[in-house]
Amino acid sequence: MKGRVLIIAGSDCSGGAGIQADIKSVTALGGYAATAITALTVQNTTGVFDVLGVSPEMIVHQATVTIDDIGADAIKTGMLHSVPVIEAVAEFIKLKCSGIPIVIDPVMVSQSGSRLLQEDAVEALITLMIPLATVLTPNIPEAEVLSGMNISSEGDMIAAAHKIGELGAEAVLIKGGHAEGDKIVDILWRRDGDIEGFEGDRIPSENNHGTGCSLASSIATGLAQDMGLSDAVARARAYVREAIRTAPNYGKGNGPLNHAH
Ligand code: PLP
Repeated sequence: MKGRVLIIAGSDCSGGAGIQADIKSVTALGGYAATAITALTVQNTTGVFDVLGVSPEMIVHQATVTIDDIGADAIKTGMLHSVPVIEAVAEFIKLKCSGIPIVIDPVMVSQSGSRLLQEDAVEALITLMIPLATVLTPNIPEAEVLSGMNISSEGDMIAAAHKIGELGAEAVLIKGGHAEGDKIVDILWRRDGDIEGFEGDRIPSENNHGTGCSLASSIATGLAQDMGLSDAVARARAYVREAIRTAPNYGKGNGPLNHAH
């Protein structure tokens, strides 16, 4: 049975984002989640209070013993934290993951405003990780950093996706949730020139902590299960939208999603 996803990302002790959101999403969609943890974060719905990076050697060791034994049908990367971690993870993917779809969520800053990727690591993310991506899943602020463009319309999203794609990704999904308006459009750009828009009504909610992590790992699960990219994105969006709509309203801040719907 296919559906094994190796997640290389950071831990969120409060269970809303990071590895915890990834494991819940992969499991809910019928996949098998394995993890190489890149950092421990101390956080809850109100913010990130501390971060302890795991050494690049320990990260690659976790990933290596997992893939050598369990195998993987897709890889998902999230919080990569620093230049040495990016260098080590990129090398691991090149050496051990040939032919396996790679979903890269270019995590930079949490919704509460804390840096999850050190500022000097953005360049390494661009040069070392983006060329490895089967699909890259930036939100609008991340797409602005990666493309160097201001994004204020759907046309801008398409232009930015094209520009980011030229950095080497096979496909780029720019998520529209940070834009204004009642309709949200996610733009999927592919190297062959195909552009697809996924539109939905905005779900009014304060509870969207871990949305990006959940979407990327849901897409990775679909690819691991041999779905085409467009179908994997569509199912991931439907899954995450329902998880936002039925979120339990836990915590004093930006609450977690409901992965048990
Ligand atoms: N914490 C960790 C460990 C993450 O990987 C991420 C996002 O990828 C976040 C927090 C941020 O989640 P949010 O932007 O939903 O606050």
